Amino acid sequence: MEYNRCPRCDLNYKLIDEQYCSVCQKELRGEYSIEESDMICPICFKNVIGYDDIMCASCQRKRKYQGKQKL
Ligand SMILES: [Zn+2]
Ligand SMILES: [Zn+2]
Repeated sequence: MEYNRCPRCDLNYKLIDEQYCSVCQKELRGEYSIEESDMICPICFKNVIGYDDIMCASCQRKRKYQGKQKL
């Protein structure tokens, strides 16, 4: 089987017969979900976070709450 680089993400390899890599195929089909992300909240190591997030929503809430209490 031959592989070449995916033209869409230019990151993953795909079978030469395929148009895009499996990740892009999923994205294009709208199947890409946050559960498939490798980004885990660094505070609680439990919840999944978005690529732009520093921590999960639950930890963000806790932070805000604690901050308010200190003030
Ligand atoms: Zn791709
Ligand atoms: Zn968290």
